[in-house]
Amino acid sequence: MRELAQALLDLQELEIVQQESAIVHGKDAAAKTAELAPEIRSLQTRIPAEILKRFSNFRRQHGTAVAREVDGVCLGCHLNVPQGDLNRMRREDMEWLCPNCGRFLVLSN
Ligand SMILES: [Zn+2]
Repeated sequence: MRELAQALLDLQELEIVQQESAIVHGKDAAAKTAELAPEIRSLQTRIPAEILKRFSNFRRQHGTAVAREVDGVCLGCHLNVPQGDLNRMRREDMEWLCPNCGRFLVLSN
């Protein structure tokens, strides 16, 4: 799950860079971020289609779909993730999702 969560986080970061470039550069944005496209495609191929769909839908609705967990707090919604849930996620008994906001979580080590 760690590899998948990290791939989602990387994808989100690249997509945000692309979006910001579009805001700043307007019609020249595509040229400015052309080098990101292969990287984005490569990340997308490493993510199962069903997860990618959930990621894209969530991004459309909420802006971000992946957040880091630091000291038991989801940085997406800034609420505590119950320790029991964190333990189950670390044991891979549970999907790495914030039970409060539903974002994919990248757990701290
Ligand atoms: Zn959250």
